[in-house]
Amino acid sequence: MSASRKYFIVNFGCQMNVLDSGRMEGILLEKAIKPARAVEDADLVLVNSCSVREKPERKALSLLGRLCKAKKHKPDLVIGFCGCAAQQHGEFLLERFPGLNFVLGTNQVARLGEVLEQAGLGERVVKTEWTDEGDLDCLFSVSKNRPLPGVSAFVAIMEGCDNYCAYCVVPYVRGPERSRKPSDIIAEIGNLAARGVKEIVLLGQNVNSYGLKRGFGADFPDLLLMAAKVEGIERLRFTTSHPKDLSEKLIAVMAGENKICEQIHLPLQAGSDRVLALMGRGYTSGQYLALVRKLRSAMPGLGLSTDLIAGFPGETEEDFERTLDMVQAIQFDEAFSFRYSQRPGTRAAQYPGQVPEETKLERLWRLDQLVGGITEAKNLEQVGRTKEILLEGTSKRDAQKLTGRSREGRLVHIAKQGAEQSIGELVMVRVAQGLKHSLLGEPLKQEPRGSWQGEGQCLSR
Ligand code: SAH
Ligand code: SF4
Repeated sequence: MSASRKYFIVNFGCQMNVLDSGRMEGILLEKAIKPARAVEDADLVLVNSCSVREKPERKALSLLGRLCKAKKHKPDLVIGFCGCAAQQHGEFLLERFPGLNFVLGTNQVARLGEVLEQAGLGERVVKTEWTDEGDLDCLFSVSKNRPLPGVSAFVAIMEGCDNYCAYCVVPYVRGPERSRKPSDIIAEIGNLAARGVKEIVLLGQNVNSYGLKRGFGADFPDLLLMAAKVEGIERLRFTTSHPKDLSEKLIAVMAGENKICEQIHLPLQAGSDRVLALMGRGYTSGQYLALVRKLRSAMPGLGLSTDLIAGFPGETEEDFERTLDMVQAIQFDEAFSFRYSQRPGTRAAQYPGQVPEETKLERLWRLDQLVGGITEAKNLEQVGRTKEILLEGTSKRDAQKLTGRSREGRLVHIAKQGAEQSIGELVMVRVAQGLKHSLLGEPLKQEPRGSWQGEGQCLSR
């Protein structure tokens, strides 16, 4: 590929895909391939796909179809299909889409440069092998030159998942769980800090089982403590925590280390114990509630979010009402609700009692209503409180505002005019207004206190 070429990446899906797209950009920029302003201007288009539910997968595949059509008028266009759906469908994609140049699986991001060279020689390539742990350690090092979107950056601490929840395609498309060496992760965080990053979000499908298979002598809480020592890093967050593996040690470390934000994403999935067992989640609703109590008593201002699935196979109206009961009882700060999507190759796809689409939609609607009302009410409760926010950039909706996040994860906007603060700074604000998905704040003229416990903002329940 010649140096004057331009790329465009279309990303679908989760934070892990966002990170992988960034790693791909790093590789392209090193090859002196420049970013295009729009997909139409690019001569290399990468579609980084998601297959966790049918809808995003369908969107990625239909974009691929459109790109292949456009190629008829632009024969030099190079098209790569990457990510989870690429991993799942592999070779079949080349047969189905004659305009497609290559398929790059989830574990082969670091090989993008080689694949591009092969494609440049006219080869059609499928690269979907799993990497082993040794490979994983060096492959991630390619992410060190990725462009940074701002003061907060993702760092993957592991790849894949061994949990095989009955509905989930992730273990099939991201492979078995493999953890990176603590020393590599800390080196990457150090590199990001040197480039001006202030906040790190550690990523893994289940961060709570980090390192346990590899016997590093350091588990996830230990890794957090190591990351907290990296100079220049002000805040740490992480996702996702599986409730069955969340330890007392993690709660103690979160409560005791000021750089770790009081925020946790703890997917509940369903409120009925029968459905949780069918899903193979490894906890009951009672155990989940007990965990939430422990977390909230250790960190009174905790921001708690979750994922919920409506219409899992065999879910009755009574089962679904248990999910509503849990949402009502727990009052999550944020919840992401999904209608169950049958994923090929997963156990639940073969379960009897698949729920009709209209029932799933109706349950999802009721869940969204409940969740939306709670999120808004909880945002209204914040009015008058003082919060420490890390300024991340200009608001996407209003160029006159700066946006940051509070320690518990709420989006807070402040007026640009009069704000003496700059991007990357921790500032104290007073919440003036609670909106549906964010807060409006007024900067206070004082030093950040840094400690949640000292702010007197206990969301007592
Ligand atoms: N590792 C994370 C989840 C990754 S997938 C965890 O264990 O929480 C993100 C979310 O997508 C899941 O929490 C689940 O709520 C949802 N999801 C996964 N598979 C799904 C399916 N087949 N149908 C509907 N939602 C699904
Ligand atoms: Fe999927 Fe379950 Fe693994 Fe999360 S823990 S990625 S839901 S299999």
